[in-house]
Amino acid sequence: MTNKIIQWYNINKRDLPWRKSKEPYKIWVSEIILQQTQIKKGESYYIKFITTFPNIKTLSESNDTEILKLWQGLGYYNRALNMLETARNIVQNYKGIFPKKYNDLIKLKGVGEYTAAAISSICTNESKAVVDGNVYRVLSRVFNISEPINSSAGKNKIKTIANKLLPPINSGTYNQAIMDFGSMQCTKHNPNCKICPINNNCIAYIDNIINTRPVKTRKIKKKHRYLNYLFISNNNQFIIQQRGTNDIWKKMYELPLIESNSAITIDKLKADKYLKKFIINEVKKERNMKHLLSHQCLNIVFWHISVKNLNSNHKIISKKDISKYPIPKPIERYFEIKD
Ligand code: SF4
Repeated sequence: MTNKIIQWYNINKRDLPWRKSKEPYKIWVSEIILQQTQIKKGESYYIKFITTFPNIKTLSESNDTEILKLWQGLGYYNRALNMLETARNIVQNYKGIFPKKYNDLIKLKGVGEYTAAAISSICTNESKAVVDGNVYRVLSRVFNISEPINSSAGKNKIKTIANKLLPPINSGTYNQAIMDFGSMQCTKHNPNCKICPINNNCIAYIDNIINTRPVKTRKIKKKHRYLNYLFISNNNQFIIQQRGTNDIWKKMYELPLIESNSAITIDKLKADKYLKKFIINEVKKERNMKHLLSHQCLNIVFWHISVKNLNSNHKIISKKDISKYPIPKPIERYFEIKD
């Protein structure tokens, strides 16, 4: 089966920019970007990232705002902040040389088992199997794994099988092959099993149960949050603020925020103590927006609050300057459609 997947890969592999390199820095950048991101979208971010930060040193000299701005639109912004921290760590403690071995890589911030296995196998052929969503799908079908792939029993079973399938040499090629195989051949919906080179090995195909594999336990219910964003303006200028570090969108910029336990009325908003420091001309509800994150459903209302004065204790900017700041997707959309 291993050889058949490698043969399939030799014919079908995608021409992706990071595949032209075995530099651990570039493989690391591509792997972090591709977590939770479609290849097509990830490719343009990868090119932008490598052009801006061609090596670990240039990345280490960056700052939170610059890297978050570059990452804007990709989501999971912790990834970017962790990369910056890791780059500084490598420059300070590893003489600027990116590690290649699994046991060193796994110690880096933001590098988990999957990323460490990908970098070490691709760069040095270290015998470590990568197990991403594609690999879970292929192996749970071929070996008819009935344990949920989001349970530890299911994960461990698949990891054990994945490591057994690694070839004695070229583990890096095989790892890339099985991930491509999962994303292009053994697709989530309607895989073309008739032309699949491993259909003789695939128990789910033989038993006609591919649609029941992989098994997943039900998703966690999303938490609902109610965010009231305030566009507090005077004379074409308005207030922005930087987010803290204990919540989503760490260190990004946003409009002043009042979070409530449920949707609030205009009168309740006007009575909030945050607005007491302003002399208000008018308050208008401007836009409702729903934004889904992996574990949260954000119910957002944008309020336009025109005021007589903008207190200099705040960070005040004009609309044309918002593009200089890293902002979360809903704020970006708000400004895109704002008149
Ligand atoms: S036979 Fe179908 S389900 Fe089985 S590995 Fe091939 S594509 Fe996937």
